[in-house]
Parts: sequence; structure tokens; C-alpha cells
Amino acid sequence: MQNPFETEERRAFRETIRRYVEAEVKPHADEWDEAGDFPWRVHEELGALGYFGFGISDEYGGLGFDDAFMRAAAAEELARCGATGIWAGVGGRSISLGPLQSLASEEIRSRLLEDIVLGRKGSALAITEPGGGSDVANLQTTATRDGDEYVLNGSKTFITGGMKGDYFVVGARTGDAGLLGISLFFVEWGTPGFSRTSLDRKMGWWASDQATLYFDDCRVPAANLMGAENRGFVAIMENFNFERLSLVAGAVGMMKTCLEESIAYARDRHTFGKPLLEHQVIRHKIADMSARVDQVESYMNMICWQINEGAMPVAEICKAKFAATRALEFCASEAMQIFGGAGYLRGNPVERIYREVKVFAIGGGSEEIMRDLAVRQMGL
Ligand SMILES: Cc1cc2nc3c(=O)[nH]c(=O)nc-3n(C[C@H](O)[C@H](O)[C@H](O)COP(=O)(O)OP(=O)(O)OC[C@H]3O[C@@H](n4cnc5c(N)ncnc54)[C@H](O)[C@@H]3O)c2cc1C
Repeated sequence: MQNPFETEERRAFRETIRRYVEAEVKPHADEWDEAGDFPWRVHEELGALGYFGFGISDEYGGLGFDDAFMRAAAAEELARCGATGIWAGVGGRSISLGPLQSLASEEIRSRLLEDIVLGRKGSALAITEPGGGSDVANLQTTATRDGDEYVLNGSKTFITGGMKGDYFVVGARTGDAGLLGISLFFVEWGTPGFSRTSLDRKMGWWASDQATLYFDDCRVPAANLMGAENRGFVAIMENFNFERLSLVAGAVGMMKTCLEESIAYARDRHTFGKPLLEHQVIRHKIADMSARVDQVESYMNMICWQINEGAMPVAEICKAKFAATRALEFCASEAMQIFGGAGYLRGNPVERIYREVKVFAIGGGSEEIMRDLAVRQMGL
């Protein structure tokens, strides 16, 4: 569907990412996903194209400007590679960059931000704990001030980029129970008392790495506190907005893949003497999928426009996230039906998307939490 806010610059950026994904990622996506890994050069090549640079000043290797449409286009185009494990594998960096740019000390930023933005090093955001992810205000990892250090104790789980990451943004309790007792910390891999194990047996996102992180009397300099003490909750919530926008955009990319693969297959496959595409029931499935793509894409474009205008439409982002994942679930299921038995075989992009729907519906704020937050934003 035509985006009324399209500009020459945005079109060119999308084309650049699309051409890169078509040539360098898509041909290997299946092989990499099956292998559970992808080459590090993908991080660096995307970094060189500006994939991680939005909202980051040029002195740190960033683009020196922000644009919500371009952020969304980048996430959508990479998701179209056919294996969103690759998308997630680089995405751990994206969701940690916001707080690093806005809250880390100048010493930390000037020492390592450029390496992260250009894909030379990995970073990750560590909020979720084994005891729960939805109730962020109740997180249990502690950071206790001891002289000019903080001592971290506790663990984090499901952390994307956690096995390969060098740098971590970690949420920890510095104060009383509740949302006003949480702070963010910068923690480097290699700090004594910090260890990690891999979460390998996953339904999808095989190409990405998720880790459980353990902090056992892990000491970090007091200067690693990011932002003001006990003000981390608001920073975590604000950071979720762009993560959720990228999940919406990723879902749009996956839905488009479902639609296009379904049309191509339905043209080719014949049953009862004619192509599947000529059976009315199949045509209606295509129409329904196409309508879902248009609805989510239009909603996303309106949100991008509002963000570029200086607003942060939290309620709309929450609503768009669950609308997108519901629409994705519908499209993945209908695409699987159109493929019939062929859709059930590994190596088929539709099969992989079907397995990857749920992580979009749960990660970055589940559908239930998104509905809850949206209604609260409505003042109810
Ligand atoms: C592959 C993968 C990658 C991830 N990457 C990261 C990452 O990089 N960093 C990070 O910090 N986290 C990450 N997560 C964690 C993710 O954000 C959490 O899984 C998510 O927030 C939900 O938390 P939970 O799994 O602990 O579920 P819980 O919070 O235990 O909730 C369980 C279920 O109950 C529902 N629920 C909870 N509370 C309510 C309520 N009040 N009303 C109604 N329903 C409710 C939830 O919606 C969910 O469906 C990742 C998760 C996965 C699966």
C-alpha cells in the first residue's frame, strides 16, 4: 500500500536495505537458521548501511538524525529475509542502544558506542528475570552501593544477544520495592561475577542467541549507573516504544512474505483442474491477508508520522503491537493452509514464520500487557 509520507530519501534507504537483504542474507537464511547461527559480518555490514544508527550522533558512528519511517523500513526489510532469528540476532543491539546513547556516561559512550553502532561489538538489554518479565516493576536483581562501586546479584533470562554480547544494559533494584526502586547499569562481559548460559531449545529464532545471565557479587564502577538512581523504570518503559515499533514493522515484513509466498504458490499449484488461485475460497484468503497487511501498515505509518512530529503515542504503539501480532498469526495460519502439506516442511519460509509468530506476540510486552497498558493510557 502506498505510504503518503514516502520521500526520496526514505525510498532510497529502504531500497538499500532491501538489496542487501536480497543479496547477502536471504540466500543463506535457511542454512543459517538451521545451523543456529549467522556470520558476524552481517552485524558489520548492516552497521555500515546505517541500520543501527538512528537517534545516535555521528560522533559515535550514528546517522546523526532519527526517522521513525526509516527505522520501521529497516526492521521490515530485514524481517523479509525469511528467518527472523537473524533479525533478532542483530536486534539485541538495537534495543540496548537507546539507553546507552542517552544515559551512559561520556567515558562509556566515547569508548564503545561506535563499535556497537557499526556492528563490531554486540550489546544487549537485560530486563526479564526467571521470576517474570511482564511485571518489570517487581524485578528482583539487586545492585547495592559499596563505596565507589555497585554490587549486582541476581539473574536475567531470555536475553537476546546475551551469549555474543560484549556490553549489557541491566535493570536492577537499588531502592525499595516497586517501580521507584529500579536503576539501569552498564555491565561489560568479562566483569568478575558475571556468567552466562545459552537457551538453545527454542521454538523459533534459531539463528539468534538468547542467554540466562548470572550476577554473583558482580562489582561495577559507580559511574556505570545509567541515568539517575531509582529512575530506571521510566527509562525502560520509554525504551520499549521503539522496540515495539520494530516488532510491528517486523510483523509487517513477515505478513508480506506470507502473502507473496501464498500468491506465488496458489498460482502454480493446481487442484480440481485449475490453479488454487482460481478457487474462490483461496481468493478470499488472499483478500483477507492483504487487508490485514494494509491495516497494520497504515496504522504503523500513522504512528511513525506522530513520532516524527515529536509525539510518542504510547497507547497507539501498544494497540498496534497486539493488532500486528494478531494479524501476523492470521496471515501465517492462512498461508500454511494455502500451502497444504508443503507448508509443513522445514525450509519453507511460511513454516518458519508460523513458528515465529508467538515470540512476536510475547516478546517486548505480551499481547495481554499491551492491552492493559493501552487501556491505562486511555485513562481507564
Ligand atoms: C525469544 C525471546 C527473546 C527475548 N529477548 C529478551 C531480551 O532481549 N531482553 C529481555 O529483557 N527480555 C527478553 N525476552 C523476554 C520477554 O520480554 C518476556 O518473555 C515477556 O515480557 C513476558 O514475560 P514472561 O515470559 O516472564 O511471562 P510472564 O510475565 O510470566 O507472563 C506469563 C503470561 O501471563 C500473562 N500475564 C502476565 N501478567 C498478566 C496480567 N496482569 N494480566 C493478564 N495476563 C498477564 C503474560 O501476558 C504472559 O502471556 C525475550 C523472550 C523471548 C521468548
